[in-house]
Amino acid sequence: MHLGLVLTAPPDVLEQVPVEQMEQAGAWALFLRCFEDELRWRAPVVANFSQRVHEQHLRLFLVPAGYGILAAEQQPSSLFVQVHPDTRQVDNRGRRLQRACPNNPRYLEWFTTSMRTLAWMIEADGFAWEEPGFHFGRGGWSCRCHYCEELYVGRELNPLPMELTPSLLSLRQQSVAMLVTAASAAVKSVDSGLASLVMPTPGPQTGAVPTGNENWRSLAAAEGVDGLVLTWPPAAYGEGGTGGAVGFCTAARAWLPPTAPLLLRLMCCRDLTETEITLQQLRQVGVQAVLIEDSSLYLGQKRPGRRAEELFGVIETVTRADRGRSGPAISSPTDN
Ligand SMILES: [Zn+2]
Repeated sequence: MHLGLVLTAPPDVLEQVPVEQMEQAGAWALFLRCFEDELRWRAPVVANFSQRVHEQHLRLFLVPAGYGILAAEQQPSSLFVQVHPDTRQVDNRGRRLQRACPNNPRYLEWFTTSMRTLAWMIEADGFAWEEPGFHFGRGGWSCRCHYCEELYVGRELNPLPMELTPSLLSLRQQSVAMLVTAASAAVKSVDSGLASLVMPTPGPQTGAVPTGNENWRSLAAAEGVDGLVLTWPPAAYGEGGTGGAVGFCTAARAWLPPTAPLLLRLMCCRDLTETEITLQQLRQVGVQAVLIEDSSLYLGQKRPGRRAEELFGVIETVTRADRGRSGPAISSPTDN
């Protein structure tokens, strides 16, 4: 089994990230969440980091946050969306939200250009699109903007409904699939070997959170998408520990086309022993790749702290049996 680490580290901290130690522990890849506001000014720092990662023969995947629609929970706003409020999603009460609408052509143009620029500036092995979608929550949903309305009317020959009907849910899914296809095409126009992965909003099962990215099957089948990154446990179960990960993976596998690579993002427990047990169980059932995300991990110091040492120990134990095997094939099919 191949283990990756999901890191949320500002550019200032990247220099301290113990890449060498991660490689020695047996890590396979780093998934770096990079925020729009930081990348605007500090992209060269991330580019240097990418070089260090590749020198250690690890893979680097970028997880852009912000840009109007990605990882909205962590980075709700975007300079572009603030300057162009007309590109924002409109909720069912007619209010403009912080999130951009994927059906707005001006936004889509800016978003894809931004992703292409990122792919140019930073040498990565791929991108993971984190929770792209429409707003859904507290009785509210989007989007009722002019473009969404036109699309709906054009497709259904009926006015946009006031409720989230099945036909509207399906249109939202189609809009998100088109957005990730556009993002994939943008980065692959720079390097056709770049992998394009989608991280849907965590939900206990498909259909749980209708943000437009809930249909795993159609997301995995979207043009240009090379695989999905699914999260366990979902946020709502956060305190419940990592138990149930095997059952979740088995159920998820049944939803996805057999050829679609599935990466599991495992949110660490406070007690890393439980994380290790879960990882061993996942290994035994043949899960190819797991990305570990640990909110207690802090890397902004000269030497890795106790938590980091402990985590690297877990990675080392779990990967020991698989040493020498090649990584999962999640690069783009056009990669030679
Ligand atoms: Zn819209």
